Amino acid sequence: MNHPLFPCGYCHETNVASHCYFTEDQYGTTYRVVFHESCGAFSLFPRPDEQALQKAYDDSYYGSSEKKFTFPLVERVIEWFREGRARKLAKWLNEGDRVLDLGCGNGHFLKALLKRKPIRAHGIELAGKAAARAAQIPGIILKTTKLQINDFPEKSIKAVCMFHVYEHLPEPLETLEIIDHILQEEGILMISFPNADSIQSRLFKGRWLHLDPPRHLSLVKPSAFKKMMREKGYRLLNESYASMEQNPYGMIQSILNLICPKRDLLFESLKGNKAYRESYPAWKLTLQRLFFIVSFPLFGLTNLTAAILKRGATVEFIFIRTTKAARICL
Ligand SMILES: [Zn+2]
Repeated sequence: MNHPLFPCGYCHETNVASHCYFTEDQYGTTYRVVFHESCGAFSLFPRPDEQALQKAYDDSYYGSSEKKFTFPLVERVIEWFREGRARKLAKWLNEGDRVLDLGCGNGHFLKALLKRKPIRAHGIELAGKAAARAAQIPGIILKTTKLQINDFPEKSIKAVCMFHVYEHLPEPLETLEIIDHILQEEGILMISFPNADSIQSRLFKGRWLHLDPPRHLSLVKPSAFKKMMREKGYRLLNESYASMEQNPYGMIQSILNLICPKRDLLFESLKGNKAYRESYPAWKLTLQRLFFIVSFPLFGLTNLTAAILKRGATVEFIFIRTTKAARICL
């Protein structure tokens, strides 16, 4: 029997991807998750249309207040991890270096970097409340349209960061080409995205938190991404599958997604999305919060085990762009 093949939402080849499972977004729309063997990417089919994406990216995506999360403790923990990332990247930077944070959100990562090094901080974030907040941070040069080849001179950027942005891009490979064009030789690419090869992805399939339909258009396997970057002439400096910020929560919310028909309810309530949780009984939400608190230590431990096996729910890579001479030898 011939199985139908679908277009790949990552490399855009047609009739190449095979059906894996279905997933449903918060608004009740169902998508197929399809996998393309040769590029190693999962993607949504059909591709979410403009209207669906606009709805999913309305202001509730970043929370209704100044911060993404309404709970001060959650926001504090996130800040602690953000400072850690800034510390890691700052080691590679010198005074006056240009750094681009692609999908910079409210600009807090660039702010954390600026605290450490007097860099030229460029942020790109599509217009909205988050971009408006970023624009108010002194020292950030903000652009609110998508990255284009002429935005920066060739080899002018010392470091590009993309934290949980790559999977949102409609043209991820094109964006990487632009990054390759603007990065200096020995420039740094720091990137994180959900791990499509993780235990969570395999266990929860369409109910996995980090699948996040319709916003995540494609998820490439870390092994396929590394191979592609190696072929482009990049050397891997560091990889981590152990994010305590993303992974244990991914497990907790995915388990809740199996039990509760309303997807990502606890996550949305932590962000202060009141409209989404409105019709859900308050006592059930309290139970979900209790489950979060009680089970976190356990899933913190299982996360560390998964990370050793490179099966943690998310991955963070740091690559260095090798020099022209080194590329020829590769
Ligand atoms: Zn593909």
